[in-house]
Amino acid sequence: MSFNVPEVQEKRLVIVGAGFAGFTLANKLRGSGFQVVLIDRNNFHQFQPLYYQVAMSGLEPSSICFPLRKNFRSDSRLLVRVAEITSVDTEQKQIHSNIGVLNYDILVIASGATTNYFGNDSFASNSIPLKSVSEALYLRNRILEDLEQAVLVRDESNKDLLMDIVIVGGGPTGVELAGSLAEMKRHIVPKDYPDLNAATMDVHLIQNTARLLNGMSEKSSQVALEYLNRMGVHVHLNTMVEKIESESVYLNSGKVIPTRKVIWAAGVKASPLPGLPDQAYHRDRRIVVDDHCRVAGTHDIFCIGDVSYFPSKAFPNGLPGLAPVAMQQARYLAKLLLHQKQNQKLTPFRYLDKGQMATIGRSKAVLDFGRLHLSGFLAWMVWLFIHIYYLVGVRNRIVVFINWVWSYLFYDQALRLNIKPYSPGAHSNEGKRSNDRSGSSA
Ligand SMILES: Cc1cc2nc3c(=O)[nH]c(=O)nc-3n(C[C@H](O)[C@H](O)[C@H](O)COP(=O)(O)OP(=O)(O)OC[C@H]3O[C@@H](n4cnc5c(N)ncnc54)[C@H](O)[C@@H]3O)c2cc1C
Repeated sequence: MSFNVPEVQEKRLVIVGAGFAGFTLANKLRGSGFQVVLIDRNNFHQFQPLYYQVAMSGLEPSSICFPLRKNFRSDSRLLVRVAEITSVDTEQKQIHSNIGVLNYDILVIASGATTNYFGNDSFASNSIPLKSVSEALYLRNRILEDLEQAVLVRDESNKDLLMDIVIVGGGPTGVELAGSLAEMKRHIVPKDYPDLNAATMDVHLIQNTARLLNGMSEKSSQVALEYLNRMGVHVHLNTMVEKIESESVYLNSGKVIPTRKVIWAAGVKASPLPGLPDQAYHRDRRIVVDDHCRVAGTHDIFCIGDVSYFPSKAFPNGLPGLAPVAMQQARYLAKLLLHQKQNQKLTPFRYLDKGQMATIGRSKAVLDFGRLHLSGFLAWMVWLFIHIYYLVGVRNRIVVFINWVWSYLFYDQALRLNIKPYSPGAHSNEGKRSNDRSGSSA
């Protein structure tokens, strides 16, 4: 196998990662005169802020993902390749991957971030991450599967084990998940599972600091906490998770929560590529860039989005891992590359902070924009509008809009399908298992 990219006269610009940063950059470089090769391990772009709605059966995965080839099919100079990039060779100007080697003239690393378990194996093996649409689907299936199991068991403590959920991390993802689960407990479980006592389903949110939503204002943190308290979520502030086992979560307060489901929303770490000069790696794994998004110690390699370390006056520890940062850097880099082509210079990149927001279930959200703090229905409307606006694809926008209107009116969705991925050979084993069962009962 190889990349099978034709050799042409134009300079080859390789982009690793088709997330917010890489996808935006590739869009901006259409018809730019570069041969652009956009590489991702998946053949689609994912809208990460709405993973939690897929996990909560509120949206179908296809409405928050977009096929790369469909997006770029009108541009013959823009090639999409599905591959796992493993390293960079800056001497040879090549990237290495699971499908071979590709030469580049200009390389842009936009490989984003991955789940951070802080080196604790018990966290990694006994919790469910939410950093890809397949993980969101896995979580959806686990929730549905455990509710079905809970109907079948008689023992109350076993029911609790299957119904209760612990979320680790009180950032936007944890808060949004907790709000959605509280609504599922209130509106869905009593209707779909009348044999279960929904009131016994506990949702725990564990946060290691004194407030939720650390990246937002004190006011928004306070409002989010009040909302969650009112919705019946058990919020544990200033609490650390010490160990996670398959059926228990151990907190530093000494409390042990029995549960089969722990959702890990406690942090991410950069996904850098090996092979860059030493000075290019920050101690937290991010890739150090200059104020033109160029990787330290290189001339023709750039880095944008979550994987880049770009300190500024307002953000001395680097710009935050947010979609607007990735998209603004991508737009800037497109401009810079086009300027460079014409031997023109561009002023350094400046991040325009447009604020932050989080939703906490139906009609509730918090929003910070400079000194402006909004909460409640108006903030929720802004949240809805912005998320629909940034979704890729007209169909996706319409589908998501209809889903949200439907949920708002009827408090329900018809998406709670536990579709298990087919794996070859599973049928023969299943046949064998069911034969075994019938054999033993005969
Ligand atoms: C659950 C969740 C909720 C979020 N909510 C918000 C929100 O509400 N608002 C907000 O602003 N931000 C939010 N974020 C953060 C936001 O999604 C990120 O800041 C943004 O995705 C960063 O864009 P990126 O392009 O740098 O990386 P990503 O979007 O992560 O894209 C990286 C891409 O690189 C690919 N890739 C990585 N390594 C390789 C490799 N070795 N080979 C091939 N391909 C590779 C990946 O498949 C991926 O497609 C959220 C993130 C998560 C996980």
